[in-house]
Amino acid sequence: MNAPGNMKVLRHPAELRELREGNRKAGTSVGLVPTMGYLHEGHLSLIKAARQECDLVVMSLFVNPTQFRPGEDLSTYPRDEDRDFQLAETAGVDVVYSPVPDDVYPAGFATRVEVTGLTEVMDGDPTSRGPEHFSGVTTIVCKLLNAIDPDVAYFGQKDAQQATVIKRMAEDLDFRARISILPTVRERDGLAMSSRNAYLSPEARERATAIWAALLETERVTGESGLDEGLEAGRARLQAAGIEPEYFEARMPGTLDPVEGEFGETVLVAVAAPVDGTRLIDNILIEPNKARSIR
Ligand code: AMP
Repeated sequence: MNAPGNMKVLRHPAELRELREGNRKAGTSVGLVPTMGYLHEGHLSLIKAARQECDLVVMSLFVNPTQFRPGEDLSTYPRDEDRDFQLAETAGVDVVYSPVPDDVYPAGFATRVEVTGLTEVMDGDPTSRGPEHFSGVTTIVCKLLNAIDPDVAYFGQKDAQQATVIKRMAEDLDFRARISILPTVRERDGLAMSSRNAYLSPEARERATAIWAALLETERVTGESGLDEGLEAGRARLQAAGIEPEYFEARMPGTLDPVEGEFGETVLVAVAAPVDGTRLIDNILIEPNKARSIR
C-alpha cells in the first residue's frame, strides 16, 4: 500500500505483469476499478469500496477505442488526466494504469472476447450501439483481469447490461475475481452521474432529469397497477419532456430476457435516451408486488 502522495502510475502492460507477480508473492489482495476517466462520484464510490475491501487498489484509466462505433464520441470523450490522478490519489488509489491504445492493441492484435446473447439486446441491438460495443468492453476487461489478476473487480449498476455481461464472462472464463456491482450514484436531482453529462447544455441538463423521474414513475405505477402500466407511464413521462428513448423496457437482470405483465422476481427497467444528441442510460431494479426498488 502507498501512503498518500505516492500513487504509482503505470503506462505499459508489461509493468502490470511485474505488479501481479509481486502481489502474488506477497499475498496482497487486489481490487481493480476499470474506468474511462473524467472521474465523478460514481467512480469514487467504486474506489472507496475497493479501498475498504482490498490491500491494494488499482484503477485503470483508458478510453477504450474498441468499444466505440464509428461516429460515436471517441474523439470528443472528455479527458483530464491530471485531475483524474489527483482525485484517484485522494480517494485512495495505489496504482493507476493509464496506457496508450497502441500498447494495449499493438500491431497484429487479433483477439476479440465475445459474450453472445446478452450483448445482442438493449445497447447491443444493431440499431443501438451494437454487439461490437460489448465485445470491445469484454476484450479490454478480460485483458485487465488477466494482467492484474484482482481478487475483486468493481463495476457500477448504472451500466446494468455491462455488469450482467461482465459477470457472465468472468464466470464462463473461470476468472477467480469476484465481480462486485455497486449502486448508481446520482446528482441531487436524480440524474445518474456520467462523464457524458459534461456534454449537456444547461437546458438539456435540466431536461435530462426526466429520465430518473420516468424510472421512478414506472416503479410507482408498477406497484399500483402492474408492470405494463408502469412502463407506459414511464414512457409518457419521457415524452412529456420531449425525450424519445432508444428503448425503455423491462428485463430479467441476470438473463436480460424480456418481462411483461406479472413478475415474480426483481426486474430491471432500463432506458437509453438521447438528450440533445447526448446518449444517456439509466435503470432501476423493481421488486415484485412492491413499490420498493433496489438502487
Ligand atoms: P466509465 O468511466 O463511464 O466507463 O465507468 C467506469 C465504471 O464506473 C463502470 O463500472 C461504471 O458502471 C461505473 N459508473 C459510472 N457511472 C456511475 C455512477 N453514476 N454510479 C456508480 N457507478 C458508475
